[in-house]
Amino acid sequence: SRQFGRPLNDLANQYNMIQAGVAGAERVFEILDTDSEFHGDEEGKELPAEVLGEVSFQDVSFSYNSDLPTLRHITFTAKPGDLIALVGPTGAGKTTIINLLTRFYDIDEGSITIDGHNIQGFDKKSLRSRLGIVLQDVYLFSGTVRDNLRFGRLDATDQEIEQAAMQANADGFIRELPQGYDTVLTADGCNLSQGQRQLLTIARAILADPAILILDEATSSVDTRTEMHIQEAMRVLMQGRTSFVIAHRLSTIRNADTILYIQDGKIAERGSHDQLIAHKGRYYELYANQFQQVI
Ligand code: ADP
Repeated sequence: SRQFGRPLNDLANQYNMIQAGVAGAERVFEILDTDSEFHGDEEGKELPAEVLGEVSFQDVSFSYNSDLPTLRHITFTAKPGDLIALVGPTGAGKTTIINLLTRFYDIDEGSITIDGHNIQGFDKKSLRSRLGIVLQDVYLFSGTVRDNLRFGRLDATDQEIEQAAMQANADGFIRELPQGYDTVLTADGCNLSQGQRQLLTIARAILADPAILILDEATSSVDTRTEMHIQEAMRVLMQGRTSFVIAHRLSTIRNADTILYIQDGKIAERGSHDQLIAHKGRYYELYANQFQQVI
């Protein structure tokens, strides 16, 4: 198919261009996947409306090119509400795990299930409408703050929008804008700070209210106060949702129920922060080298 034959960079660009903000919004993927009706063999088969959010990979292997295995025998289960931190060197396979869960690519071997349902048995749109995706670069369009937030859930009322903004610690700065929620943003949102754009993204995702979240954490430099607001908003967002985070913040990693340390396409180590520190393996090394100074 046209969409899925594209190389990763294009895919990443599409992600960034289209959303990078939310998802949960089915609309994001409608744009991404304009031709999905032509390659869905399970067209129309929908995941149950109420997803609890158990996500399980069983012996999943995958390669982008037939000769080079990218992921090998990945097995894990996330219970509903778990926070799973994906950690490991660049090129290890973290993004690929996400690409398989969102079905931007399909697995070669094994199975991926949500609440016990094999995701390959369902319409891609239906699958993706149950997932919330928050990526590094924030996508804002030229329109009011309110409309940008409403992109998270198109039928949301003004009250629901403001409530989500409040939960995301965004309400305060929005009210200080010249026209509050009716302030028109430029297409790239450059009349806001990077931290404010991230808070809008989080508010959108809260509004979308997905059972399963996928986050690619930004490592952007924002001031300490904004960083605290973002961390708090992230905590609220992840509460009660199964969350997969390609994690860069130590605070996220420490709070994870399970850290999956990915290396060379395999789960090299798994456990909580304390367990992996005690294990004194690769995660411990990473922690000692990269994070020690910033605690
Ligand atoms: P990470 O997210 O841990 O940095 P990725 O999952 O992006 O790693 O990449 C895992 C491996 O798969 C890397 O060797 C990468 O070059 C390769 N890869 C990623 N996307 C593609 C693609 N679309 N086509 C071919 N190889 C890819």
